[in-house]
Amino acid sequence: MGHIIDTVANLTDLRDRNALIDTLLSVFQGLIGASRLTLWSVVRHNGALLVRRRAEFVSLHTGGAEDDALPLGNRLFPLEMCAHLHDCFHSSEPLSRPTGAGGAICYVFPVTDGHEVIDLLEIVRSAALSPEQERMVTGMLRIYRNHLGILDYGDCDELTGLRNRRTFHDSFARLGSYGGSARYPCLAVVDIDHFKRVNDSFGHPFGDEVLVLFAGLLRESFTDHERLFRFGGEEFLIMLENVTVQEAFEALDSFREQVEAFPFPQVGPITASIGYTQVIPGDSGASAFGRADAALYVAKQSGRNQVRSHEILVADGLIQGKIAVGQDVELF
Ligand code: GH3
Ligand code: MG
Ligand code: MG
Repeated sequence: MGHIIDTVANLTDLRDRNALIDTLLSVFQGLIGASRLTLWSVVRHNGALLVRRRAEFVSLHTGGAEDDALPLGNRLFPLEMCAHLHDCFHSSEPLSRPTGAGGAICYVFPVTDGHEVIDLLEIVRSAALSPEQERMVTGMLRIYRNHLGILDYGDCDELTGLRNRRTFHDSFARLGSYGGSARYPCLAVVDIDHFKRVNDSFGHPFGDEVLVLFAGLLRESFTDHERLFRFGGEEFLIMLENVTVQEAFEALDSFREQVEAFPFPQVGPITASIGYTQVIPGDSGASAFGRADAALYVAKQSGRNQVRSHEILVADGLIQGKIAVGQDVELF
């Protein structure tokens, strides 16, 4: 009993979501034992349901029997590719199935955010779970979900649910670095065009509704929701990992097109301008933001509803030099 209380206490000590998920899996391993434990996150992207493998624990005793066809990391797979995950997602109920491998059993438990399933815990073990163990898994997932809710409360913007400005620096510090072959992380600043007119013409509640729908479009287009921020009123930040300038442009411009085409109720067409920059070694959040914001300024000056790269603007001589690494702009 004391052991379980310690375990729960350790779990709720954590503020970092990745550490929380890793600890959650090792807690399950300690409490019930499994040959493999996987936490999947469900995301929507351009109307499709996808899953990403967030964390995995493979028991050494199983001799690495794990099927590595679906790697860890940012790769996304259609939910329907994994029938057991798909069925659990749609029923919102735990399920169990034989795996066909040496009599092992695969369990899937849903984690809901009160509206829908956000994560799926997959447990593969050689023996069935007792009813007591199943209750323990369900209860521990509720503790995990409740703790995540408290973290979200502090880290997320109330209106849109995106990460708030306060979390930007920590997130920025965790961004990967140069990925080789001209691949870098990118930081984009997105600003809704003439947003003041929406408020002036239709009233603040309609403006708020646009912000909520706009955030929904961001989530649909960029699946790494922990890297989307509402930075200020109608200004948002997007962090992309491991992209070329061209790939970043394509992703951002496709989002811009989706905004332009989206039928915002009552208020009619809305557009957004975007500036972005490659994040280079030694950058601070403020120095990268300063460059992306300078590119955004050009986008606004050149007619709005467009995406501009700081690096391309410098190469074309349209921006004077770079904002030096470490030269913090007075915005933070
Ligand atoms: P630009 O194309 O140059 O960006 O023009 P803009 O009108 O979008 O920019 P400006 O900075 O003049 O206006 C931003 C407006 O956003 C002003 C402010 O009232 C509004 N705003 C900021 N936060 C919120 C919010 O939470 N809800 C609503 N409804 N409006 C907000
Ligand atoms: Mg604006
Ligand atoms: Mg603005």
